Amino acid sequence: MMYTVFFIGTAGSGKSTLVSALSNWLEDQGFDVGVVNLDPAAEYLPYVPDIDVRDRISARRIMKQFKLGPNASIVAAVDMMVTEAERIKEEMEVVGAPIFLIDTPGQMELFAFRQSGAYLIQRLSDVHSLVVYVADAVYMQTVDGFATTMLLALSSRIRFKKPQIVAVNKADLLSEEATVTINNWVEDPEALLESLDMPQYEKEVLRSVANMGGFVEPVFVSAKTGEGLDRLYHKLQMHYTGGEDAQ
Ligand code: GDP
Ligand code: MG
Repeated sequence: MMYTVFFIGTAGSGKSTLVSALSNWLEDQGFDVGVVNLDPAAEYLPYVPDIDVRDRISARRIMKQFKLGPNASIVAAVDMMVTEAERIKEEMEVVGAPIFLIDTPGQMELFAFRQSGAYLIQRLSDVHSLVVYVADAVYMQTVDGFATTMLLALSSRIRFKKPQIVAVNKADLLSEEATVTINNWVEDPEALLESLDMPQYEKEVLRSVANMGGFVEPVFVSAKTGEGLDRLYHKLQMHYTGGEDAQ
């Protein structure tokens, strides 16, 4: 049985760095972990992937060959990746790790909000799969940053139809106070809504989302310092095994 964990999030939220940090952390704990890079445009990766889509499809090559701009070449590359899904899946079976961390393209909309991205996630998912929505702590400390992050995470959940964990990355850049404030917004959405300067309609939409459980409790992590990786692992473990160790 394979556990597949996909990392989704806006550009620069730290998906690749978190994949690197979590894979190292898991290996230190004695887990056998596989890492897959699905970003055809990555210039540099902070980890050595077991499977790298760039070996076959590179946005940079497509850009030159078809004279496309940077976004169009990523879109084309992600579409081409669909034809590679079967092969990637086979390679994962060859690697044979019980848990795979899967990094996705930097700009989430080029992947998450396109048919081919969702298809790839479905194809590469095993029985147990989950999405880690990576949010940026610095952006999330303002009221509208928090609200829009929760809505984006919800969009991703609607898109992928998978269990999802919200990881607030770059927690090393957050003050103790800011962390408490964000937690308060989760627990007491009314406090957040009161401080939001926005028209009634948008407020009502947010209120409904919050009341329906759309403001999920995040786990604070730092891919840089390693803070919170244990908590992230425990959340993953809860999803997969209902609490038992995944090894
Ligand atoms: P991606 O586009 O989501 O894959 O983001 P990257 O992993 O490439 O990270 C974007 C930038 O954020 C890089 O400069 C990272 O060094 C930085 N970064 C990532 N995680 C953290 C973190 O936990 N703390 C801090 N301070 N910086 C981070
Ligand atoms: Mg990346």
